[in-house]
Amino acid sequence: MSETESKNFIETIIEKDLAEGVYDTVHTRFPPEPNGYLHIGHAKSILLNYGLAQKYHGKFNMRFDDTNPTKEDIEFVESIKEDIQWLGADWEDRLFFASDYFGQMYEAAVKLIRKGKAYVSDLTAEQIKEYRGSLTQPGREDPSSGRSVEENLRLFQEMKDGKYGDGEKVLRARIDMASPNINMRDPVIYRVAHMSHHNTGDQWCIYPMYDFAHPIEDAIEGITHSICTLEFEDHRPLYDWVVRELEYPHPPKQIEFAKLYLKNVVTGKRYIKKLVQEGIVDGWDDPRLVSIAALRRRGFTPESIKMFVEMCGVSKANSIADYAALEYCIREDLKAKAPRYMAVLDPVKLIIDNYPEGQTQMLTMPNNPENEALGSRQTPFGRELYIEREDFMEEPPKKYFRLFPGNEVRLMGAYLVTCTGCVKDAQGRVSEVHCTYDPASEGGSSPDGRKVKGTIHWVAAASAVKAQVRLYENIIDEEKGVYNEDGSLNLNPHSLTVKDNCMLEPAFAGAGAYDRFQFVRQGFFSVDPRDSTAELPVFNRIVSLKSSFVLPKES
Ligand code: ATP
Ligand code: MG
Repeated sequence: MSETESKNFIETIIEKDLAEGVYDTVHTRFPPEPNGYLHIGHAKSILLNYGLAQKYHGKFNMRFDDTNPTKEDIEFVESIKEDIQWLGADWEDRLFFASDYFGQMYEAAVKLIRKGKAYVSDLTAEQIKEYRGSLTQPGREDPSSGRSVEENLRLFQEMKDGKYGDGEKVLRARIDMASPNINMRDPVIYRVAHMSHHNTGDQWCIYPMYDFAHPIEDAIEGITHSICTLEFEDHRPLYDWVVRELEYPHPPKQIEFAKLYLKNVVTGKRYIKKLVQEGIVDGWDDPRLVSIAALRRRGFTPESIKMFVEMCGVSKANSIADYAALEYCIREDLKAKAPRYMAVLDPVKLIIDNYPEGQTQMLTMPNNPENEALGSRQTPFGRELYIEREDFMEEPPKKYFRLFPGNEVRLMGAYLVTCTGCVKDAQGRVSEVHCTYDPASEGGSSPDGRKVKGTIHWVAAASAVKAQVRLYENIIDEEKGVYNEDGSLNLNPHSLTVKDNCMLEPAFAGAGAYDRFQFVRQGFFSVDPRDSTAELPVFNRIVSLKSSFVLPKES
């Protein structure tokens, strides 16, 4: 980020802290719970935390917040690491697991008990809720709150030793049952749960609650600015209380910012998980999703995601971003980087009747007219070509400048051709388009200055590479919004279109997983890393090009 760019509010806080000596360094972290794949919203948090550490020459930690054994899975640990590395956030040698601190958390709880700041409660979860009161009513004292330090120490030890069943006893912080902030009404900080943990196995049968564990994790790691999302704002007094009562020498500071949401896009981990579990999508990396794995598989670049989250900015106010902005970013990133080759997605033969049979001519084409550094290639041209079916119309509407009988168009980089007619199959479907070419127009230039409005792309039939192309739309029907009244998702039945018979120019041969291209006149595409084979390459459409003229869709 350049010096002239305005600072976001977190940078302002950090710079003030550094100037006033509150901290002499910046240390951030990204603390995902390994209970699902990361999504575009997490990317914002990752790049924000990593970016701040970089900007202020500080450090960035990767920490799995794996204190809840019920929902966590090792599969997610691996996917999360892969996603963060791919985004370019480097935690160096600082990869941590909150579960590695269970011992220290236990000691911290004992310390609170010794200080008279925590007690073991016999209330059930339901009773605790009832005693807690509401926004308008203060809470009531827990009948167990009067226990002596010795008794609390003994009972907590017994909880740890497995003497009690799940829910039979909890440890509560002693703060203030009359606090206007419900989070401060003697929150539960440890619970009994006889469950195996993916990291610690059966070593523990008591587990710390998030609000207690998180500040301890931050403090242990020397985090200075603990950045989280807005829903934790009301929890900040508890965060500060934990850090203060445990007397950490360098207390971390919690700062909240607004989550990133995309309009009409399923972003939440919970909802993505549902789509995966119900088999509506083909796994967490289905290219229609906005999990990071899905964006990567679809062909998005880390640079485009970075550009997008920076465009969205960092603020305290909730706002909703447009998916179109993400599309803008990937187009910007790829327009000069990706080679532009010709691919025909819905092929029909074009036969040039006056071109010599059996002749092949190699034409030199720039690989990207906007970037000379990508050089040029030789593309074969011949009597039989494939063109897009929609580039021919027997009876064209007004302003249709492509092929129709009697009209002349430019075959991109090749010749001017004049349409002479078409041949239809038994069903009345066009099976061949015929034309003649002007040999004097090599390269596609007009020999006598005559105007030719339309330019279409093509692929020589003899050397075409057959491929499958997958076109994606939003998985949600945008007209109807994300949810139905009953809470179910409004699915778009056309979110995936598979084109099995696409014809590509030979320059595509040998393209490997994640290779990205612009298909001339179509959009940006990338090789699917999972399903593409040498026999049948598979391309995902990352994003289409903006098109000025769209034909009504064939149904
Ligand atoms: P979800 O809301 O999708 O279930 P989560 O908040 O439960 O996600 P965590 O693994 O707890 O997921 O999140 C890790 C970090 O990512 C947290 O600091 C969280 O605040 C941040 N984060 C999660 N979702 C977003 C989002 N949409 N925008 C920005 N940051 C997010
Ligand atoms: Mg969460």
